[in-house]
Amino acid sequence: MLIVMKASASETDVQRVVDTVIELGLTPLSVPGASRTAICITGNKGSVNEAYFLKIDGVKEVIRVTKPYKLVSREVRLDDTVITVGDVKIGGDHDVVVMAGPCSVESEDVTLNVAKEIKKIGVNVFRAGAFKPRTSPYDFQGLGLEGLKTLKRVKEETGMCTVTEVIDTESAEVVAEHVDILQVGTRNMQNYSLLKKLGKINKPVLLKRGMSASLDEWLNAAEYLLMGGNADVILCERGLRTHSQYSRNTLDLNVVPTVRKLSHLPIIVDPSHGVGRRDLVRPMARAAMACGAQGLIVETHIKPESAFSDQAQTIHIETLDGIMRDLKVLESLEGINK
Ligand code: PEP
Ligand code: MN
Repeated sequence: MLIVMKASASETDVQRVVDTVIELGLTPLSVPGASRTAICITGNKGSVNEAYFLKIDGVKEVIRVTKPYKLVSREVRLDDTVITVGDVKIGGDHDVVVMAGPCSVESEDVTLNVAKEIKKIGVNVFRAGAFKPRTSPYDFQGLGLEGLKTLKRVKEETGMCTVTEVIDTESAEVVAEHVDILQVGTRNMQNYSLLKKLGKINKPVLLKRGMSASLDEWLNAAEYLLMGGNADVILCERGLRTHSQYSRNTLDLNVVPTVRKLSHLPIIVDPSHGVGRRDLVRPMARAAMACGAQGLIVETHIKPESAFSDQAQTIHIETLDGIMRDLKVLESLEGINK
């Protein structure tokens, strides 16, 4: 249930609502937003009597939230969430944000070289995994702490913001000390102890969609983060497991405009994991932008053939440059991403 306050409501009115929720043994969560002040009630098993609230001064209306997820839903918050990371704004009608870099953090030299090239073409968020969740235990597992230090160096030397994956609760804090955005990978989307942990950490989270997750499961996973206290969540569509054989996954771009209707959270697209093939990355990046994605995350390398992981889907810097040019053309089209 959502209690919406009148524009004229005083702080005392809001506090009275909060106190009433607590007296009823429920949990009040304030919903930030430019257009209205609202308090969301969670923790109720059945319906709550709205009369308790309608009689409080300053209350405009009481709305029953129909979705199983609440804080992430557009019903609860009307205006888009915009996340600020350094100079970068993600979400709303801000420019499409491009995050790019190798699948894994490699040696400091190579990683810095890739970062500098990527920076030159106007990218301002650098991606690379220090802890790699690999299907085979024999595959490269990432450089761990050493990789995190390299990411810090990238930020110091290039000024780019950084994003990297957190694979477990134990390493969450140390990862948060080294980068700007915490990525939850497809395999961990329903790792609820990890989501609860990241809900308590003061860093934006990039939540990838589970490779077989429904839209509801994904939005509920985001709800864990918001409920834990972290409102800065970026959703990322990265392809689903389907019977299709010609690509690694099937990029479900249908969810982009759907999420923008159902939720106020920003949604970005990862065409690299979505297709698994270098030649399909640019066309699908274009498609993602055309259907309203607020960002892209793209595996890019100066020598993709020698990348430590995901070589087949990693594009050359020149291709990323092409995507950056596509973006300018698409952004100039009326109605795109607005
Ligand atoms: C990655 O971004 O390198 C990655 C492992 O992504 P996903 O979790 O989508 O497979
Ligand atoms: Mn990868």
